[in-house]
Amino acid sequence: MTAGMTLKNTILFLFLCLRPVAAKAASLVQVMVFIGDRHAKVLLLLDGTISDFESRSAPPMGTTPARASVLIRGAVLSPSLKTAYQSVPGGTQMDVAQAGIDALLFTSVSAGLQIVVEMQESRTLSVFRQGDKALLLDLRVPRAPPDDSLPDPEFLSSWMSGLSLLPQAASTPNLLPKIIVDAGHGGKDLGAVGKTGTQEKDIVLELARMVAKELRQKLGADVILTRDDDTFVPLVDRAAKANASNADLFISIHANAAPSPKLHGIETYYLDTASDESAARVAMRENAALFPVGGATEKVLADLAISGNTALSRRLAFQVHNAAIVGLSELYGQERIHDLGVKTALFYVLVSTRIPAILFEAPFLSNPNDEMMLRTPAFKSRLASSIVMGIQRYLEANSSTGFSSTTTIPGL
Ligand SMILES: [Zn+2]
Repeated sequence: MTAGMTLKNTILFLFLCLRPVAAKAASLVQVMVFIGDRHAKVLLLLDGTISDFESRSAPPMGTTPARASVLIRGAVLSPSLKTAYQSVPGGTQMDVAQAGIDALLFTSVSAGLQIVVEMQESRTLSVFRQGDKALLLDLRVPRAPPDDSLPDPEFLSSWMSGLSLLPQAASTPNLLPKIIVDAGHGGKDLGAVGKTGTQEKDIVLELARMVAKELRQKLGADVILTRDDDTFVPLVDRAAKANASNADLFISIHANAAPSPKLHGIETYYLDTASDESAARVAMRENAALFPVGGATEKVLADLAISGNTALSRRLAFQVHNAAIVGLSELYGQERIHDLGVKTALFYVLVSTRIPAILFEAPFLSNPNDEMMLRTPAFKSRLASSIVMGIQRYLEANSSTGFSSTTTIPGL
């Protein structure tokens, strides 16, 4: 009996010893891949404290691609990520297939969780802790300059702590509003093309110029256009321009298109995970300049970060959208100005922008009536004025002392 008690006690003792270790095993719960020009960042978010990690980078050998790996001691892959990504021999794989990054492979080893980034050429790997529960992998092609459009550690920290902090904005509030107006597409990227040949890139440039002019005249705003002519501007450059500007907000102007010519109306997007299938479709189309190959696009975007500016962006989206619907319905009637609502989607240009940002989709070039309206000067001028009205309302509602860029979101 005594021996039995001892055995029982031993088992209990072992259980107590093992339990804290088991409870501490942090799970990898989210992976975000930010793709830049010869520079990528991978954010690994765990649900518990990371005790220790090891990293290394290796050039390609024979048939194996170049690899960068990090071992997070005592960690495991969460069941949700296991099901979200593909099961392959040796672990779980997340396909990236963009800009030199092939895939991420997650393998459970006895020491913990190993994450291998498979790449087309070897890259310099630096690993930074992002607080207690996250690691940021920085992968740069040797001698390639850092890509400024990628989120920096400071931004990621504020994003993870649930606050929206504008980079460098706190010390230099803008006395007059500073606004980035982004005309979608341009140059070789035509955007949508209507039945009668109207090109989205031309319509949105006209609209963007009209909006910029009125913002300057009415609000005295300092306006930066991401393009002021018919040139191709990569999406990463648009975001970089926005981030470098210390602006108050970013509005990207597009015209819509859909497979069905019946679909018409106006919709406005802010950044969040795609809310429905049609939002995902619009995102695919507008992101096409960045990811010209299909397939992997959706998946990569699904793993990109949601900016900390969601709440402000949502407010901006509603103000601009409502002003556009009201302004145009007055002139054209509600049945012609169909309200498709404010939606969320993963637009690259919004993902990479750190300030409150929206993407406005003017009516459909794929709908004959909408296309005709978009060609009408009175329609465009009313649309531009309405957008400006929406921006003005947003700025008035979201600044305590006149126009200021130092807004933080309480309890986001
Ligand atoms: Zn577009």
